[in-house]
Amino acid sequence: MEQSVILPSGEKVPALGQGTWHMGERSAERKDEVAALKAGLDEGLSLIDTAEMYGDGGAERVVADAIAGRREEVFLVSKVFPWNASRKGVISACERSLRRLGTDHLDLYLLHWRGGEPLAETVAGFQDLQRGGKIRYWGVSNLDADDMRELHKVPGGEGCATNQLLYHLNERGIEWDTLPLLRGSGIPVMAYCPLGQGNLLKNRRLEQFAERYGMTAAQAALAWLLDQGDIMVIPKTRSPQRVAENRGALEISFSEEQRAELNDVFPPPQGPRPLAIV
Ligand code: NDP
Repeated sequence: MEQSVILPSGEKVPALGQGTWHMGERSAERKDEVAALKAGLDEGLSLIDTAEMYGDGGAERVVADAIAGRREEVFLVSKVFPWNASRKGVISACERSLRRLGTDHLDLYLLHWRGGEPLAETVAGFQDLQRGGKIRYWGVSNLDADDMRELHKVPGGEGCATNQLLYHLNERGIEWDTLPLLRGSGIPVMAYCPLGQGNLLKNRRLEQFAERYGMTAAQAALAWLLDQGDIMVIPKTRSPQRVAENRGALEISFSEEQRAELNDVFPPPQGPRPLAIV
């Protein structure tokens, strides 16, 4: 395996994976989406992130086509809506996701964001799923530092394997408190929207940085996250060419000078900020 990130269990997972938001929404694009995900698997980007939300289950169906016949290569992640996250609700939602994905287990199942269900209920449901062999690990998404402290107090809460958070060069708020807290507990972050949904790549200073060092803006943005060593990164693209480009980020290592340049253009937070989400 190429660069990997270590889960609290000690298991290594690929640092660079693939996102699937907005896949499975339009049938005309389905072929490209499946082809891009397959190209990513061929390139070793074998962590695939999806959710029951994406395309109303359509993204999970696209993933099913992409992973057919090669399930064992994939570290498969899906997410449950907060309103399905009661103890019983997570089990039914997971079973629906498994059917759409054409598999009998998820590697990681995340609470998509915090809603009205008590965290203790959701964790109990996740543990039931683990005992039943339906999921290997569970985690959360969009939980801030206070939520994480609360999670750690509920029975079984210490079993959380990751927190999937909005994190890219232009959105560094989690570095103030949430990221240090997670690092202190040995919980790796999974960075979503690592390209700022494509908008980050229009930043002229990032483009200039990338040109100067012979990389693309997307590679610079992804390499900046990968450079930290303990962040899983899940860019989404429906283009096999872009998959190859994004994979190129794994070949890049930054010098201290390059890190300082990026810090200058995209400064770290100077104080606490409410957790940014998309
Ligand atoms: P990303 O930051 O990954 O950006 C995706 C956009 O960038 C797409 O428009 C894509 O276009 C474009 N793109 C990809 N690669 C390149 C490239 N090399 N050059 C130029 N443009 C490129 O945004 P996402 O919102 O998709 O986030 C990534 C994943 O994170 C999601 O797909 C999802 O799995 C997860 N996520 C989780 C959330 C949560 O609440 N937990 C919230 C949001 C996302 P194209 O496809 O046309 O190539």
